[in-house]
Amino acid sequence: MDFSSKLPNVGQTIFTTMSKLANEYKAINLSQGFPNFPTDVKLKELAQNAVAENHNQYAPLQGLPKLTEKIIEKTNTLYNSTYSNEEVCVTAGATQAIFTIFSTFLKPSDEVIIFKPAYDCYEPAIELNNAIPVLVEMKAPSYSIDWEEVKQLITSKTKMIVVNNPHNPSGKVFTLEDMQALENIVKDTNILVLSDEVYEHMTFDGSSHLSVAKFPELQKRSFLVASFGKTFHVTGWKLGYVLAPKELMEEYKKVHQYNVFCVNHPMQVALAEYLENSENYLQLSDFYQQRRDFFNSFLAQSSFEFTPTQGSYFQLADYSKVSDLKDTDFCLHLIKDYGIAAIPVSVFNKDEKCRKVIRFCFAKDEETLTKAGKILAKI
Ligand code: GLN
Repeated sequence: MDFSSKLPNVGQTIFTTMSKLANEYKAINLSQGFPNFPTDVKLKELAQNAVAENHNQYAPLQGLPKLTEKIIEKTNTLYNSTYSNEEVCVTAGATQAIFTIFSTFLKPSDEVIIFKPAYDCYEPAIELNNAIPVLVEMKAPSYSIDWEEVKQLITSKTKMIVVNNPHNPSGKVFTLEDMQALENIVKDTNILVLSDEVYEHMTFDGSSHLSVAKFPELQKRSFLVASFGKTFHVTGWKLGYVLAPKELMEEYKKVHQYNVFCVNHPMQVALAEYLENSENYLQLSDFYQQRRDFFNSFLAQSSFEFTPTQGSYFQLADYSKVSDLKDTDFCLHLIKDYGIAAIPVSVFNKDEKCRKVIRFCFAKDEETLTKAGKILAKI
């Protein structure tokens, strides 16, 4: 068939590519971000019970009231925000929420500011909606943001700014200064904010997560996107949610209803019950900080250079002292010759510029981290 691609420059995602290669070469997979340890038995039992108790038909469009109430309670308690029950929608993971937000609000030639390196689903989704991604480079190695530069890039066409905090792949956790700078840029404008906070419960060394929900000027124009997949080690469930002020949420739901209508009912029953115990998400930072430190204790013996990640379950490492290869080639070399799969960060960078940095996912059990760590320590 003769057709013209809407995404001529897009191929297979790096996550699929690297996980496939990891399987092919039987390498330890520290590339795609997902935990390899089992899901909590309690959550599995709740899911099994929900199916057995016949919660198997369509759920309400915006999500099960029992679950949406819990989400609102959790968010307002943690971030001192003022969301009400009409201001939430349960989604098929963060990815669907993000795509639906773009589809709802972007019109041809609208501009959307995103920060590079960026998680890979933003740009294609913006382009599919005929809008234009405007790229701002975070300043390596600290991945700081020059907010003056952002200000200069605002035009009459700027519809939205996308922030990802904690940030994938760098692990950057936004500071109070970052949040205030963002607030100053958008206040008194009609610019919307999409805040991808899927790693909200993974911040380390005492730093706390500054959600847009904590800042009234930001809350009133923001979509806060979250993922149960990340928080409860169930990436395969593909469940998350979006929060936004009432008028924005009403508009969002117009599209969501034709996009998915509603999402997995029995898993929503399970999640509603599981959220009763706040320990299930409050202990996550400690849990992952231990894994980060354990993994980094091996990396510290190697010639890789790194700063311990501040948030998320990713650790970046600079391999300049190890090899002259491009990062994509270096990752191939790591898989084939050392049996370790990682992600070349250039795929997330502006113009795919290689800075000799790769990303490891440390959401793995102790045995896997030990095995991988021992190999990496010798490089
Ligand atoms: N978010 C995960 C990562 O960054 C992968 C998700 C996916 O495979 N699409 O590795």
